[in-house]
Amino acid sequence: MDGTVNEDIIAAMVRMAKESRRNAYTPQTGVAVGACVMASDGSLYGGCNIENMSPALSCCAESVTMYKGISDGKRDFDALAVVADTEEPFVPCGACLQLMAEFGVDTVVMANLNGDVKIKPLAEIIPCASDMLANRVVKRDDDEQLLMSLYDVGEDDDDDVLLDNESLDKALADLENMGGKKEE
Ligand SMILES: [Zn+2]
Repeated sequence: MDGTVNEDIIAAMVRMAKESRRNAYTPQTGVAVGACVMASDGSLYGGCNIENMSPALSCCAESVTMYKGISDGKRDFDALAVVADTEEPFVPCGACLQLMAEFGVDTVVMANLNGDVKIKPLAEIIPCASDMLANRVVKRDDDEQLLMSLYDVGEDDDDDVLLDNESLDKALADLENMGGKKEE
């Protein structure tokens, strides 16, 4: 398979999600969920939700499924299907959507046992996910450059010392001034 998501593949993914759902471990809620994810090379992985007496340890079917693929060395995925015995097609939780965004899932297939299927691009369900790249932390080197330019720390200063005493005094004075203005 070349990773193209067509009707046959969607049907196969929903089938695999339903089969995986049978293994759901749900002593707490009784809500069995099954999922299937397709990696960009066409590999399919199935998974189910796994609950625990300690609620924080419970894991969604979508996440279990993603983790199976990721732990098998996959890093890019085309589509994920999820199914449960719900009135409407099952919608993944926000945490699982974020996990899907991290690993490039494009298409989300939501289904129930009545045969209802809803297909949506991930970007439509979690529209700001693609902007999350903007949240990547600036490299430490850049931070130091910024601080150096703000407080005139010369290039020839000791590399291990970010701010010398004079610059530190100035930075503290700036902070005090800011505090003083705030009180006015
Ligand atoms: Zn989830």
